[in-house]
Amino acid sequence: MSKTDFSRLGEQTKAIHAGEEPDPVTRASAPSINMSTTFVVEADAGFSVESLDEDAAWIYTRWGNPTIHQLELKLAALEQAETAIAFASGMGAITALVFHLLKAGDHLVISDVTYAALTEMANEMIPELNIEVTKVNTSDPEAIKAAIKPNTKLIYIETPCNPLLRLTDIAEVAVIAHQAGAKLAVDSTFATPIATKPLLLGADFVIHSLTKYLGGHGDALGGAILGSKTALTPLRKKTAIRLGGVISPFNAWLIMRGIATLPIRMRVHEENALKVAAWLEQHPKVKKVIYPGLPSHPQYELAKRQMKNFSGMITFQLENGNKQAKIFAEKLQIIHYAVSLGHHRSLIFYLNSADLLESSFKFATLEQLASWNDFAGEGIFRFSIGLEDADDIIADLKQALD
Ligand SMILES: *Cc1c(COP(=O)(O)O)cnc(C)c1O
Repeated sequence: MSKTDFSRLGEQTKAIHAGEEPDPVTRASAPSINMSTTFVVEADAGFSVESLDEDAAWIYTRWGNPTIHQLELKLAALEQAETAIAFASGMGAITALVFHLLKAGDHLVISDVTYAALTEMANEMIPELNIEVTKVNTSDPEAIKAAIKPNTKLIYIETPCNPLLRLTDIAEVAVIAHQAGAKLAVDSTFATPIATKPLLLGADFVIHSLTKYLGGHGDALGGAILGSKTALTPLRKKTAIRLGGVISPFNAWLIMRGIATLPIRMRVHEENALKVAAWLEQHPKVKKVIYPGLPSHPQYELAKRQMKNFSGMITFQLENGNKQAKIFAEKLQIIHYAVSLGHHRSLIFYLNSADLLESSFKFATLEQLASWNDFAGEGIFRFSIGLEDADDIIADLKQALD
């Protein structure tokens, strides 16, 4: 089906068919895994990445591989992007984007709360390269405007952000970025292409950790950048090929198989999360629940406008979170007490605010700290609602809480 115009087709059809076609030699219906690192080439094949074009033959898997290419086509179809590049992990994708777009003397505006490894990179590694960094609460567009400088090249946001589930208005920030001559990159891992398509809202780049909802089964690390061909072709040459953070074809194949059921999985993640969030909200021991699908979310209106699916991530606060985290780790039977998210299994993990503020989120202003406290208090349980029966998830929580 690779010749099909997927833009006409529904989301489930794209998720299943885009990028795949029966194997031309064996007629296998499922995609083959092509693990070869090298490919037999014509005598006149070029040996420089500069000679690589769109239709170049396969040469070496770091430059491109048939199985990885199938995954990239599927991702691009779902995100309605011109093209996609897959990486070995979400952090591999983020690193490639940041080091491709920014050089010494440039300025980066980044959300004060992002995936912790990126926040830590923005605290140290990025400034060490003489790239200026300003961290702002990007849920406030005025704060972004105030942070922009003549050398601002990139605005980087995550929505909903990990772990707060605070949202940023992509369309509004895209206008601000472009008026300033900067690019907008959106980490859409928590939303998935089923909920939000940032490129259609004006973003220049979308990032996904494929390790989460896209792969969906907790058995393969992966990442991706999506955007225009003009922007991504040089990025592939400069960073994917030269920095080398490419995905294994085996992981690409696993993630592709996961994506086939993404639209139907997201429906159940949302359905279960709505039930669990409503149950938590009425529980006497629960201090606060944050879920974009609850009217009590401080940005519920934006969530309804920007998210076609509220996804499966919930955070909640309890009295004495540290103690309860230990009880959860010991007593939960179905829900795994573990990091990561977006898997078919429910996963829960406690994030202590004091620890995180010291190790990662070193806020620059009292306003930033106040927003953190508003969403997270002393600490939150980050709860990735899986695809088990909602009643079983609730019963497991209940026995551990009561
Ligand atoms: C997990 C995650 C990442 C990093 O992805 P890895 O695949 O673990 O490298 C980046 N952004 C968000 C929002 C994440 O949840």
